Order: sequence, then structure tokens, then C-alpha cells
Amino acid sequence: MKRLRLVPRTLRTRIAAVFCLLLLLTATAVIVVFARQAARAHVEAQQQLAQNLMMFVEPAVRGMVATYDTAGLDDYMRKIAADPAIASIRVIDESGGTLLYDHQGNTEPASWLTWLLTGTAGTSRLLISDVTVEGKKVGRIEAALSHAPLNRNIQRVVAVGSLLAAVLLAVAFLLTYVLLTRLTAPLRPLMEWAREFAHGNWHPRVKLIESGSREIQELNQAFSDGSTTMRHYIQSLEETRELLEYSETRLRKLVNGMHEILFELDVDGRIVFVNPAWQALTGFKTEDCLGKPFSDFLVDENSLRNFESRVLAQLHEKNREISLRSADSKHLWMSLDADAQIDSAGNFTGVIGTLGDITKSVELNHLLSRYQDELYHQSVTDPLTNLYNRRHFDSQLEVILADHIPKNMPVCLLLIDIDGFKFINDTYGHPLGDEVLRTTAQLLKQQVRRNDYIARLAGDEFAMVLKNTDIENATRIAQKLHDSISETRIPLPVGHMQLQSSMGVAEAPTHGNNAQDLVSAADVALYHSKRGGRNRIEALSPDISRAVMSIFSQGFQLRNALEHGHIHPAFQPICNLTSGEPMAYEVLARMRINGLVIQAKDFITVAEELGLTREVDLHVIGQALIQTPAEFALFLNVDISSFNNKNFVTELSQLLKPACDSGRSITIEITEREMLPICDTLHQDIQTLRAFGCKLALDDFGSGYSTYNFLNQFQPDYLKIEGSFVRGMLHNESDRKIVTHIHELATSFGMKTIAESVEDAATEHALQKIGVSNAQGLFYGAPRLAS
Ligand code: GH3
Ligand code: MG
Repeated sequence: MKRLRLVPRTLRTRIAAVFCLLLLLTATAVIVVFARQAARAHVEAQQQLAQNLMMFVEPAVRGMVATYDTAGLDDYMRKIAADPAIASIRVIDESGGTLLYDHQGNTEPASWLTWLLTGTAGTSRLLISDVTVEGKKVGRIEAALSHAPLNRNIQRVVAVGSLLAAVLLAVAFLLTYVLLTRLTAPLRPLMEWAREFAHGNWHPRVKLIESGSREIQELNQAFSDGSTTMRHYIQSLEETRELLEYSETRLRKLVNGMHEILFELDVDGRIVFVNPAWQALTGFKTEDCLGKPFSDFLVDENSLRNFESRVLAQLHEKNREISLRSADSKHLWMSLDADAQIDSAGNFTGVIGTLGDITKSVELNHLLSRYQDELYHQSVTDPLTNLYNRRHFDSQLEVILADHIPKNMPVCLLLIDIDGFKFINDTYGHPLGDEVLRTTAQLLKQQVRRNDYIARLAGDEFAMVLKNTDIENATRIAQKLHDSISETRIPLPVGHMQLQSSMGVAEAPTHGNNAQDLVSAADVALYHSKRGGRNRIEALSPDISRAVMSIFSQGFQLRNALEHGHIHPAFQPICNLTSGEPMAYEVLARMRINGLVIQAKDFITVAEELGLTREVDLHVIGQALIQTPAEFALFLNVDISSFNNKNFVTELSQLLKPACDSGRSITIEITEREMLPICDTLHQDIQTLRAFGCKLALDDFGSGYSTYNFLNQFQPDYLKIEGSFVRGMLHNESDRKIVTHIHELATSFGMKTIAESVEDAATEHALQKIGVSNAQGLFYGAPRLAS
């Protein structure tokens, strides 16, 4: 049910109503005041009238009462009572108490309005006037005035006043209403405006009404300014919102498109958010994981510890490798970046982090590190025996010495070399040689103590480093090892082979306090063991040390000389005995140190001992080719052992082929200082040299190890007759016979001969008689360095 509204809705109605109400109250007050004054005046006038009446009536009545003129009295009184103001009038004869005249008119009581305005209540007041004749009361007149005229008067006044007030009020209400309507008219567009604003229309098409009123103008202005500010504010809000929306969309796209997992954990380490990469990488459905502890998905212990809730607030990880389990129970490697989140009040609010899939790179790294390990293993081990190699040995020995020497702990180095290994290789082939090396390595592994160290240094040479062991103990260990090697039998297709070894032992710091010195000392001991007949152990003693050290120091000198170009070729003429002219020059090595010229025989032994002949030969040949003109035929000395080196022939060919191609006559003089087996490769090597025009000569035939076998196999172009026979042939018949025999032998093979060490004309003559074609020696010229 609609409630009755007592309060008007609009402001102008309210103001008009209030104004009218005030006007009504004022009008009422005015009417009351006016009515009251009119009523009073009326009452006073009536009272005056009553008094006048009494005063006027009493003399007339006195005469008539005195005369008992009742008719006259009656007539007179009737005229008086005709006045409507008289409510009642009676004339009473006092003497007899007779009522002479009685008239009852309008006795209407005072109305409430009369009572309200004049205070007069009830019926009218009785007026009594005595009638006296000659001082004696003869009668009395009683009259009462009527309230009716007063009532009528007051009613009229109030009615007229009310009517006037009503008209006034209506007019005032209308006027006020119209006025206020005009005054409040400019508020309507403002209201419209505000309403539009309220409905979110920030550009209302409402036209503000210009008004003369300052307040309205200011209100309009304020509204206009406010709406402009509001529009700007809303526009910037709108822009910010759009920007936020755009960046949120972008962020969402980025987060959703990220290859890395983005995650958020709550303060207990439970997953609050993960982006789609989580499902893509781990295979776990995002919705199944929300609320679960992140640690449930971690694999390794360390990572788990970091995500325990009590330490979570300190979490700060950068590029940390962790392992996650995937839905199909695989291990995924992730790079974790995560930080504990702290709000402005310093409270820990959770963790935000990313996980980048590095499984492939980790697996690749693992593979790489395995390869690196393998590569390192290969670089420090010998594939044949699986022992450490020379490189590792060198560095390791330094480490061991640096660790032990400061603690006064002796370290012994035992060098082990298989005797006659080359022979084993050459006779039974390399696979068996390899088997020997593997077996030796195995024996070493069996004998080595837990903390000691073994390595294969080269070829058939092994090393054992015995920590915290003096030379006596080391020698005992060496002896045990030596015995076990000697007792080892290598099965052959027929029968078996027994191994022998030579060993050298040296002690640090006594024989050297660094790796290089200790190895040199052990080398000296081994060398001594070899020279002492092999199959033995030699511990370095001061005697050995001194003797062998001299070789090593000479070796050092030789190496130095080679390095600094102090080895030179000397040229000795070889003369044709028929023409007497030099047919060629033999190239001989000389060492020149501090102005001294040292002959080859004085350093070539050291070169052989230390395996430097090849280097010396190649150096001297190279220099000889440079220092002599192309028309010089050269006889070049090459030690047969140099052919054992695989690269030797290649290097020699590189030097000689261009010379031969340019027409130079080159003869290779093979020197055989020790007996060497002639193998297939030697055959092939010599064929290689012959192929581009090198000739061949066999040196010192008749001495040393020169064999007929060599003659047979290689058929040299020249045979050089050993100088000792030539020197003795004038006085010693057997020497002369040998010279003759060698010459005849050579001739029968189609070779030419060269006699060595011819020192005089008589010898030359004797040689000519035998038919020897060429000769060399001091008689023709000593070896001389190129000027
Ligand atoms: P010595 O009695 O003086 O020790 O002489 P040797 O015959 O043992 O000669 P040496 O120790 O100087 O020779 C080492 C040889 O070992 C030279 C080389 O041909 C051979 N050699 C080097 N490495 C290997 C390898 O891996 N396998 C085989 N089978 N032989 C090798
Ligand atoms: Mg050996």
C-alpha cells in the first residue's frame, strides 16, 4: 500500500508550504488580535449602552412606577426592549414585589470564539438599577444584555479574516511556488547532468541554463569544471585500465607462452600457481597440482631441503640445477631461479620462481663430462696397458715429491725396461711384443703397493714410484718384481718365452729433489744396469752416478750443440786412383765448441747411447748440401740403426731427392756399428733411396759387423775397405791379402772399392797395383770444415 506522503517531494513545494504555514500563523495572529480588539470594543460599547440605558430608563420608570402608570410603562418598556442588544428587562415594584414589566429577548450565551477573544462566558450579566423616589427605593430595573450581536460580530470578523488569510495564503503560495520554480529551474539540468554521470555517461548532452544567480553560476561553473576534471580523470583511468588490460593480456600471453615454468608457492610451499609450461614439461595436470607441496615433485635431497617450509622464507636460488620428477616417472633437469617474497610490512608471503628445462643440456653435459673424462683418461693413460702415460707420470711425480720431501719422507723411482724387446718384436712380431708389454704391466699392477704409482713411460720402459720408501726397501721391491718378471712365461706357438728386465732405482731427495733430476738419476741407474749386462737391478750409487752422468752431460752438450748449430759437416776428398782427382767428398760430423773442433768418434758413441745419431746424421747431411755446390759428389754417413725410426727415410728423402733431381751425385754410406738384424723395412727403405738416384756404399768393410749378407742383399755400389788393413798392408802380408780379397770380392759383385786411411804414396801405389779404384786419407786431404 502506498504510504501517504505528508512531506512534499520537491524543494520548491516544501519552501512554499513552509512559507505559507508561516504566513498562516501570522494571519491567524493578526485575525485574533483584530477580532479581539473588535470584541472588546463591542463589549465596552454594550456596557456603555447598558449604563446609558439604566440612566435614561430609570427617571422615566420612576415617574411611571410612582404613578402606577403601568400602561405607559409597558408601552415605554416595549420600545426599550425592542433593542436587539437587550436580552431581558424586568421592572419590579419594590413595595409589593410585583413584576411591573418583564421581557425576555435573545438570551443566547457567548460563543466559544467570544469567550476565546473576550473571556466572556455563559449568559450575559444582569444589570440592576434601583428606582428611588425622594430617597426611597420604590422599585428596581433588571436588564441583561444579549451576547448575540457580539457573537455575530466576532463570527463575521473571523470569517472575513479567515477568508482574507486563505486568499492571501493561496496567492502567497502560488507566488512563492512560481518564484521558486523560476529560481530552481537551472538546477534541473544540473540534476540531469548528475543523473547522467551517475549512469556512467561522462559526456552528458545536457545544456546548463544561464542564470543571473551567482550561486547557480558558481554551481554551474563548479559542475562544469568538476565534470571536465572528472572526464580527464575518467579518461586517464580508462587509459590506465586499457593499458592494464593490454599489459595483463600481454603478460598472460607471455606467461602462457613461456617455455619456462613459472610458479608461485604459498608460505607452506604449496603450489598456488603454475603456467601451462608446467603441464607441458612435467606432464602433470595443472589443476591436480594446485595446493600440493612443491617438494612432492622434487627428486634430490638437497633441493627437498631447500623447500622445507621452515627455511622457505630464506629461499634465494639463482641458476640452481634441480631435478623434478615427471608424470611418466622420468627425471627432468631444471634450472631454478626462485625468491622468497616479502611484503612491505616485512612478512613472508610465499615464493615466486621459474624453472627452465635444461634436461638436454644437463644430459649433454653429463655426456660431455663422460667424454671429457674418457678423453682425459685417454690423454693420461696408455691404451695398450691401461697404465698412466709419460705425461701423467711427469706431473704426478712432481706432486708426489712436493708432498713427501717437505715431510722428510723418501720417494724411490724404479725404472723397468724389458731386455731385448726389439728382438722380441722383430722375431715374433708386434702383437707378441704388445702381449709382453701387457703382461709386464699386469705384473707391475700385482706387485704395486696400495699407495704407490705405476706408469708406462715409453716403448718397453715402465716406472714405479714408491712413496715413503728408502732405496733399500725399493731395491727389495724391485727384486721381487724382477723375479716375477723372470718367472713369467709368455706362451709361443711352439714353446714359450722367458722375459728379462733391467731396472734402475734412485731415491729422492738423495739423488734429486725434483722430478727431472730423479728421473735422470733413475735413468742413469737403468743405463748402468743395461751396460752392466742387463737382467739386473742397479740402485744408484755415487760411483755409477759419476760414471754415467758424464755420458749424460756429454749428451747434454751434444743436444745443446745440435740445438745451437755447433755440429758441422767436414769434407774429406775421395780420389780416383787412375786420374788422381777427387771423385767425391765424404761428409763427416764435427762438433765445434769454444774454437775446439771435436771429431765424430769422440761424440758419436754418446749420440748412439742416447739415440741421437739420427738427429746428428740428418743435421750434418742438411748442412753439407747447403754448404757445397751441386757438382760436388757427396758420400753421406748414415748409421744403420737410424733406419729403425719410421720417419727417418722420409726425412732423409726430403733432403736428398731435390739434390739428386738437380743432378748431384749422392752416395749413402751405411755404417754398422753394432750387429743389427736386416729386416724387410730396411730393404724397402734402401730401395726408396735408390729409386731417386742415391748410390750405396758399405763403410769399414772387413771390420765391425759388416756382413756378407748385407752385400748380398743390397749390392752396394761401393765397398769401403777398412782403414786398419790399408794402413798395415805395406808391412803386413795378411792385411795386404785382406785388402786384395775385399777388392776382388767387390769386383766380383760389380762394385767399386774405396780404400780408407791412405797416408802415403807407397800405399797408394800398392793399392793401384791391386786395382783399387778410389782412395781417401790424409795423403789426399784431411776432413775440413767448409770455409
Ligand atoms: P734393451 O735390451 O737395451 O732394452 O733393448 P731393447 O731391444 O729392449 O730395445 P729398446 O728398449 O730400446 O726398444 C724399445 C722398442 O720397443 C722400440 C720399439 O720398436 C718398440 N716399441 C715401442 N712401442 C711399442 C709398442 O707399443 N708395441 C710394441 N710391440 N713395440 C713397441
Ligand atoms: Mg728394452
